[in-house]
Amino acid sequence: MPTIFTHAVFATVLGKSAISKTVLIWFWVITALCAMIPDADVIGYSFGVERGSMFAHRGFTHSIAFALVFGAIVAFFVHKFLPTNLTLIKLFVYFSLVTFSHSFLDMLTNGGPGVALFAPLSNQRFFFPWRPVEVSPIGVGFFSRRGLIVIFSEIIWVWLPAFLFFLLAIIIRKIRKKS
Ligand SMILES: [Zn+2]
Repeated sequence: MPTIFTHAVFATVLGKSAISKTVLIWFWVITALCAMIPDADVIGYSFGVERGSMFAHRGFTHSIAFALVFGAIVAFFVHKFLPTNLTLIKLFVYFSLVTFSHSFLDMLTNGGPGVALFAPLSNQRFFFPWRPVEVSPIGVGFFSRRGLIVIFSEIIWVWLPAFLFFLLAIIIRKIRKKS
């Protein structure tokens, strides 16, 4: 995985690019949580989940099905309990994409198990053919040499493109407003 806060930054920055309406801080907190939640699967190892199985790391919680179901649940609660002017369907699409952004980034990493995109139907694991992001081994210290290599790679391949995309979105929005 990329480090957990890189997942949060990636989703939040892209979310900010997509949503021009003013939303409260809680919206971005939930966005960050959705982007991080798939890695909760590592808890499974403490409960005897076998490595490489459907519920092992990068298994079911990294699938398209999980992103859709989790996105739907979050959208429902956000729509019901929190003030927002986004429709339920927009919230569903948004939070599903945010959750799936995690798997998208994992598939760009150069190590670890692949992502079980089609779980629970199949446990086949997938990566992108091009994988520039250094994998962050679970539990690596951020300030170890390995930790710094990982962070540097994430800044170049994840943070920078996300912020450039954000800038582009702002420029396009400004141009649209003027015309
Ligand atoms: Zn992951």
